[in-house]
Amino acid sequence: MDEVRHLLYSSSYDTLIVLGLLVIMEPSIQSISLVKKTAYNSGDINRLTKADISIISLAYQLGYPLISDDYPVQNVSKILGIKNFCLGTAGISNIRKWTNYCKTCNQVYSPNISECRLCGNKTRRRYKNQ
Ligand SMILES: [Zn+2]
Repeated sequence: MDEVRHLLYSSSYDTLIVLGLLVIMEPSIQSISLVKKTAYNSGDINRLTKADISIISLAYQLGYPLISDDYPVQNVSKILGIKNFCLGTAGISNIRKWTNYCKTCNQVYSPNISECRLCGNKTRRRYKNQ
């Protein structure tokens, strides 16, 4: 619903619902859980909004393709086997797994760790192709 909020106060919103062209759905808890787990494992979890997770979960649940130019959305979708179409970009060609690392001591951390536990420097983000 957040994705179409700009239509909420226009007559077209009601018309789309009445005609069955707009259906508001919530994804299941199971598909949300799977998407969050996948995004955590790939290192994309901190780059996805609540709406991103919701829309990926629904696409997975319904077997529908996605239309997104957002790289974290594309990465998680690709891992889950969801077809993604891009409008303004070429899209991703490889699945990436993101990690954080310390530039000073090269210690590797999960993507949610922003400070090195050994030396205290800020961590940086990097990926490796799967
Ligand atoms: Zn360090």
